[in-house]
Amino acid sequence: MSVTSAKGLHPRTQAVHHGTRRSQYGEMAEAIYLTQGFVYDSAAQAEARFVESGPDEFIYARYGNPTSRMFEDRMAALEGTEDAFATASGMAAVNGALFSLCAPGDHVVAARALFGSCLYVLDLLAKFGVEVSYVDGTDLDQWKSAIRPGTRAVFFESVSNPGLEVIDMKAVSDLAHSAGALVVADNVFATPVFSRAVELGADVIVYSATKHIDGGGRALAGVVCGTRDYIRGTLEPYLKHTGGAISPFHSWIMLNGLATMDLRVRAQADSAATIAKAMQGHPRLKQVIYPGLPDHPQYELAMRQMGSGGTMIALEVEGGKDAAFTTLDRLRIVRISNNLGDAKSIVTHPATTTHQRLSDEDKTRLGITPGLLRLSVGLEDAQDLIGDLRQALDH
Ligand SMILES: *Cc1c(COP(=O)(O)O)cnc(C)c1O
Repeated sequence: MSVTSAKGLHPRTQAVHHGTRRSQYGEMAEAIYLTQGFVYDSAAQAEARFVESGPDEFIYARYGNPTSRMFEDRMAALEGTEDAFATASGMAAVNGALFSLCAPGDHVVAARALFGSCLYVLDLLAKFGVEVSYVDGTDLDQWKSAIRPGTRAVFFESVSNPGLEVIDMKAVSDLAHSAGALVVADNVFATPVFSRAVELGADVIVYSATKHIDGGGRALAGVVCGTRDYIRGTLEPYLKHTGGAISPFHSWIMLNGLATMDLRVRAQADSAATIAKAMQGHPRLKQVIYPGLPDHPQYELAMRQMGSGGTMIALEVEGGKDAAFTTLDRLRIVRISNNLGDAKSIVTHPATTTHQRLSDEDKTRLGITPGLLRLSVGLEDAQDLIGDLRQALDH
């Protein structure tokens, strides 16, 4: 087996080539090793491999697989980490990243503005004896007073779902590191394209690959990036025994996604900027929230941290839930769904779907108002999307 290394080259080059493993047949495209098991030449070889397996020695697909290893190596190269572990979904990645780190009695500080399932995992940690403190992620004073010596980890979405609050990764990482805590960042909304997470101090970077990495809304997957010590020493034992492994077929879908991710995400972010600007001041909108608009509270931070406002926009419709639903129902191009990062533009009503589980008080605190819509901008023509949004709002 030969392995292609594109480390040190431009991310676009890495995203096409890095980590490609070729068999003796020299296949051009990445092969799908759709096998759960691997044959040993002898009993002694099996024994040795269970003691320690080399980078191209596999045991069982729950532990690792050649196609999945290609995806992991490519993600690590793109993110600038030593290693990565691919998982069955973004939530398996979040769960693995946090549960593998924490023990009862540990302390975790988390930003309050999180995706509903991330909040569920934190509640679960608390149920097993981990103390979880929540802060307003945009308020550094709150991070400062919540992080204490012995805090095990901090957790945040670098751009929050759905409110698009931007967390100052560098400042929060400095605070965490001075207390000896690890920084675990859910970086989905920033995307690997606009990520500078390692440079800004994140220790563990988590992606739902279901989103921009796939880019076509086909398959669930996740990935955790970090040091080799953390990935192989802490995370892998947890995930390989608890069953969060990715399917080799899904790894292959993600490898194909990565090849076009840079082009797609940049085009989607360009359209999002155009759309956000065009929708600003629309009489039926209370607010247009987009980190790439100068009136966004963390505009400068977003530009410094990502160099882009990203592919997501939040729109608050005047008139609450009824007006929001009418708008959704009138859209012709933008589809009602709850994925994001897809080539197809998608709109979500967080208050009644992804964030339904939250109390009214929490919804209000996170800005998840009855009129709020979350728009994931796809690859359609931006003017067509603006036209669609306008005709839906002008009812
Ligand atoms: C979608 C999402 C997840 C979960 O990913 P799945 O692949 O759906 O399990 C986690 N965090 C954020 C910010 C997300 O948007």
